[in-house]
Amino acid sequence: MERGDRSFPRRPFLPSPGLLSPFVLWFTMLSQVVELIEAKRRFAITSHIRPDGDSLGSSLGLYWLLRALDKEVEVIMRDPVPHAYQQLPGAHAVRVTPIVDPSYHAVFVIECSDITRPGLIDLEKQFVVNIDHHSTTALFGKINWIDSTASAVGEMIYNLCKATGVRVTKEIAECVYTALITDTGSFHYSNTTERTFKVASELVRTGVKPAKTAEAVFASYPWSRIQLMGAVLSTARRDSSGRVACMRQTLEMQQKAKASDEDADGFVNYPLTVEEVEAVAMLKECEIGIYRTSLRSKGDVNVARVAERFGGGGHRNAAGCTLTGSWEEAERLIVGLLQDAVQRANGMKDITEDALRDSEPESVV
Ligand code: 5GP
Ligand code: MN
Repeated sequence: MERGDRSFPRRPFLPSPGLLSPFVLWFTMLSQVVELIEAKRRFAITSHIRPDGDSLGSSLGLYWLLRALDKEVEVIMRDPVPHAYQQLPGAHAVRVTPIVDPSYHAVFVIECSDITRPGLIDLEKQFVVNIDHHSTTALFGKINWIDSTASAVGEMIYNLCKATGVRVTKEIAECVYTALITDTGSFHYSNTTERTFKVASELVRTGVKPAKTAEAVFASYPWSRIQLMGAVLSTARRDSSGRVACMRQTLEMQQKAKASDEDADGFVNYPLTVEEVEAVAMLKECEIGIYRTSLRSKGDVNVARVAERFGGGGHRNAAGCTLTGSWEEAERLIVGLLQDAVQRANGMKDITEDALRDSEPESVV
């Protein structure tokens, strides 16, 4: 690991595209993070409950960055590291705890829409640094660094390496690359940009083996996942337009397959591989009458707006929330809102395509 000198910025880094003022704002936010890192010594890093590839990859990438600067640092999470990410460098050092130790100088909160998302007691009493790429995130930190143009927070951690002069080591590269492939759906989703590929290219040059990382993340599941998948996919239904699909996972299916919570990751994407399907909901029963719901969509269909109505959130094409009630009520409600979202997106398309039509788009679902 290399230690950088103390002037800032030490090397050019990749700025977000856009107008000057957003760039100045972005630069100010990043500078505050860099100054804090330089001024303080003892840090914790955390992310949301049920951590995923971006939250873990970014948290561990930042962990290695801070270690390179000889800082005391610990990654703390409320939930354990899922099997798919246990090969990440540093994953075994993640401390699973429900409470934040008061002795840190600052706590980095990665990829969280609000301060409750990490599920950690006493987090609000800390000096919190909020690092996220969701445009809808609350500014809950003493310092907030938000870059909604970044495909993953991992991309921001890469920029932070450049800003702090820390060499992108093999450990950092593995972590950031995992963040990129998971949050961009292996460079399929609309958040994938030229910058994402530039960063990925440097990471591969640093020694990341794309096939090996992809295998560890996407091809290391237990057999129970296949059995659960069979049961869940058999519940897939479409509405009469064929554009909105819905699936369910009952507690009974999970128990019968002897499947863990993480075994169902990614099922929601399958109905979306059908050409006409534009929006999908997958309801996962976590207690009787309570459903963790994953939403996915294509193009302009905004499922984050739908999730927000139930206190959830996410991105335009991938979001989540919790629904309650009977299966029928919950499915009817979510399918109805997805139908509205699809209609609205298609209405927007019509407006774009027909310059003569100047009516207002319908109100957001
Ligand atoms: P998933 O369906 O994979 O659980 O989540 C998809 C996306 O939605 C992720 O970006 C995740 O962070 C976000 N998301 C999922 N559940 C919630 C939630 O309850 N609240 C918020 N704010 N975002 C969520
Ligand atoms: Mn992310």
